[in-house]
Amino acid sequence: MGIRRVKTIVALCAVALLVALVAYRVAKRPARSEVEYWDWLSMGTLAELQTRDHSIAKAEAQIMKDAFTEVEDALSVFRDGSDLSRLVADGTIRVSSTSHLARVLGFALKVADESGGAFDPTVAPLMKAWGFRGGTISAPPSATTISNILANSVGWQRVEVAYGGDGRTVFASGGTRLDLGGIAKGYAIDLAYERLKDFGGENFLINLGGNIRVSGTNGRGSGGWTVAIRDPFGVTGNWQHLPRQLRSGEAVATSGSYERFIEIGGKRYSHIIDPRTGMPVDNELASVTVIAPTAMESDAYSTTLFVLGEEDGRRFIDGKDGCEAVFVGKNPLGTDALRRVEALCALGPRNAMTPGAKTAAKWIADELAAMGLEPEIDDFDEPATDGSARIFRNVLATIKGTGSGRVLLLSHYDTKSGISDDFVGANDGGSSTGLLLALAKHLVASPVSPSVTFAFLDGEECVRSYGEHDGLHGSRHLARKLRDEGVALDAVILLDMVGDRDLTLTLPRNGDARLKGLFLLAAADVGRRQSVRLLPYEMTDDHQPFIDAGYKAIDIIDFEYGSLPELNDYWHTPSDTPDKLSAESLQAVGDIVLKMIDGR
Ligand code: AMP
Ligand code: MG
Repeated sequence: MGIRRVKTIVALCAVALLVALVAYRVAKRPARSEVEYWDWLSMGTLAELQTRDHSIAKAEAQIMKDAFTEVEDALSVFRDGSDLSRLVADGTIRVSSTSHLARVLGFALKVADESGGAFDPTVAPLMKAWGFRGGTISAPPSATTISNILANSVGWQRVEVAYGGDGRTVFASGGTRLDLGGIAKGYAIDLAYERLKDFGGENFLINLGGNIRVSGTNGRGSGGWTVAIRDPFGVTGNWQHLPRQLRSGEAVATSGSYERFIEIGGKRYSHIIDPRTGMPVDNELASVTVIAPTAMESDAYSTTLFVLGEEDGRRFIDGKDGCEAVFVGKNPLGTDALRRVEALCALGPRNAMTPGAKTAAKWIADELAAMGLEPEIDDFDEPATDGSARIFRNVLATIKGTGSGRVLLLSHYDTKSGISDDFVGANDGGSSTGLLLALAKHLVASPVSPSVTFAFLDGEECVRSYGEHDGLHGSRHLARKLRDEGVALDAVILLDMVGDRDLTLTLPRNGDARLKGLFLLAAADVGRRQSVRLLPYEMTDDHQPFIDAGYKAIDIIDFEYGSLPELNDYWHTPSDTPDKLSAESLQAVGDIVLKMIDGR
């Protein structure tokens, strides 16, 4: 595989200008602050050099490439002559203590011991059983197969190490096979790093399949190198920046299951296996990123922490000098939303026209203000049939978009009166409020093209029965106001009851057809098309006043909220509590809404 130099030139508007610029760049030597990119394939993955050492850039790429080849020749399980293959084939090997095998296997066994076997280089037979080493498997290995492998082949204690006084190390495989895939790339990066430093390299970033180590600075002011990790949620496909820049000499690695996995019978299994259970890791994490003083550490520890999960992982990494970890959960938006639903429910009932509703409105406004937004509490009174005035409060906030257009997201936050003294409407009023707040937080950090206005509506629930003076108070007030002010909206999206663990999304007939189409596409995109039902009937809900005012609106509601599929028996009962909700469901609806906004 040849080394490829990648010229990165920011696309400029006019072709003529671009041509002129390229000519200029070629004629002139790159400025010292400019970063040069090289990439190629090594060790079955993408290798990359970013360097500001312009005069020796090509030599640096070659040195790196040679280092990777050398490590692969020593440690690959796919190479018959490699030290690792010989150890497995012969059952024992005697190598120099400074050899690649001694360094990497020695460290792997140490991490195995420290992590109680969460990281374990004897994971090889499990990798094979789960189909990661060639061949296709049509079903997961049986429980018996797994327990046999665990009993007979897995366990780092089987590998014996003896240090000869002559600077040599003797390994005995203990009849097991070894896999250094969780650590070898990091080691290869360290080897390349040392050689580049010896050669005179100063300012560079080297990367092998996401194992990164940096030297010097990228020349953009503040020192160090800025590194981004992929947003594993796939909603935006974005890159997320690490919480801080990497300092010269530091390394970073990410382990996760979202890029490398195997599909058996339609289900995805992680390529990282928990050697304590024999099962592919399936915990709350989407990925773990570890910053460490060397790439071998960041590589081994990121794999280890992915197996350990966040709680045990933090304990493990806290004791390691110079190491920091960033854990990314599978449902960050949904988890944030659920936390907010729980906090809102903890305030107690929020029946319209009671102090509880006032407290809730203030709480919502405070949450929005804490995100740096400028919420408005719009109080309005509406006369009752007996002529007495009744106060309602809508809470509103807008996040400016990067482009044009405007979308309105709606949720009611009031609870239904007359159910019980402790009715908190976790799904009904709570779930959509928590999700809207979480979406606001998300959009503050990553704004989208249209501006997004969030409206938390009061008085949705009717006291007796829906009518001109009962129910939908907040939405009628807001729809009228926006229409009278001539505000244009691309879409009005109402969320209502969107947190049920057993998520079914029932779209009432009254709703804009194009928005329903967008909804179906977005639901399919996030793998939830099967959970959607198009209802043949209309529903009285907060979107209706907007339709009446001439806006395009849709109601996203799960009206099958109950103890069994298709039942709705938790609705408007004291059973509507936060334990019936899940972060996963809230995440799915949040993802759908973000996609709809994108495609509006
Ligand atoms: P990484 O991408 O660095 O997290 O490493 C994943 C690779 O490490 C897998 O493809 C396997 O080769 C290997 N591996 C899988 N599970 C483990 C484990 N529990 N301990 C050590 N290595 C593992
Ligand atoms: Mg690793």
